[in-house]
Amino acid sequence: MSRRRSLLKVIVLGDSGVGKTSLMNQYVHKRFSQQYKATIGADFVTKELLIDDRLVTLQIWDTAGQERFQSLGVAFYRGADCCVLVYDVNVVRSFDNLVNWHKEFLKQANPSNPKTFPFILLGNKIDIDGGSSRVVSESKAKDWCSSKGNIPYFETSAREDINVDAAFLYISRSAIANDHEQDIYFQGIPDAVSETEQHGGCSC
Ligand code: GDP
Ligand code: MG
Repeated sequence: MSRRRSLLKVIVLGDSGVGKTSLMNQYVHKRFSQQYKATIGADFVTKELLIDDRLVTLQIWDTAGQERFQSLGVAFYRGADCCVLVYDVNVVRSFDNLVNWHKEFLKQANPSNPKTFPFILLGNKIDIDGGSSRVVSESKAKDWCSSKGNIPYFETSAREDINVDAAFLYISRSAIANDHEQDIYFQGIPDAVSETEQHGGCSC
């Protein structure tokens, strides 16, 4: 029997102010707030989804403003099934910093297979000035994604609700796919253990 786990942990990383909390609010609560409010307290929000007859609880972890110090703590990263990287298409620094967030994730979460671990990149705030204040082009972002092993890329607006559902649906599917790989890995362990126990019993 497959040991399916329906709880999937997704973590959202990126510079402060790029719209991480807004994207989550738009996706989970269908709400957007202009007000800037550093995320306080709540560690994660959850959303129930039915994907291919499978009931999935997405647990989406948001930073509580600590991303400014890049000290999110090991509990934040532990057991992540998918990592969502976010930058603001109007702020070049938030794009340049992606490499640090990517590296930091791999270091802290230490996934069993870093090469195939599902990342997703969101270029947010495409609505600002109708796109005329944007400084990072779609092709530059896609080049970066290719250089990191073909990370899927979505351009979003939390404010105008552009591509938010599509991105999170993709995120959920990636997390499920990664979860299946873990199942296969874990399924191997009980057999190995019982075999060792039998051997142990025989020699006593
Ligand atoms: P976080 O620090 O990454 O969590 O960023 P926030 O979600 O707190 O957003 C920072 C600011 O950007 C807030 O004032 C938001 O209202 C605004 N914001 C977030 N997403 C968008 C967007 O897609 N378009 C526009 N115009 N503003 C956004
Ligand atoms: Mg926030």
